[in-house]
Amino acid sequence: MGNFIRTKVFEISTSSHTDFVNVTHLVKGFVKESGIREGLCVVYVPHTTAGVFINEGADPDVVRDIAYKLNTLVEWEDPNYKHIEGNSAAHIKSSLMGNSRVIPVSEGKLLLGTWEAIFFAEFDGPRRRKLIVTLIGE
Ligand code: ZN
Repeated sequence: MGNFIRTKVFEISTSSHTDFVNVTHLVKGFVKESGIREGLCVVYVPHTTAGVFINEGADPDVVRDIAYKLNTLVEWEDPNYKHIEGNSAAHIKSSLMGNSRVIPVSEGKLLLGTWEAIFFAEFDGPRRRKLIVTLIGE
């Protein structure tokens, strides 16, 4: 790989307590404007109560089901939570989903699958958030 590295910070506004925002167009736009041909795209979320994941973007019921099941598995109220802020469930969901993803770039395009989309995952919104995208390659 050469020494091509570009980083862009996007501002994301989430609109509900749990909110999955499709950010695929933002990432694809940055890949295109950067001029990268071959390399890696790193998508990173610098928050402890949010995350980023890749899953189906065609049928909105898929991410609705993911949100439903996560909220069922990790209940907001639990008498055993100790964290004083009261948002332990959001920290747990952030850890489960992860705060970064890496996507290959080839011939100037993200190699996402046909049905794949990139989602910013809000677990303690609504808030203003950041999404950091770094491109490494040539
Ligand atoms: Zn907290």
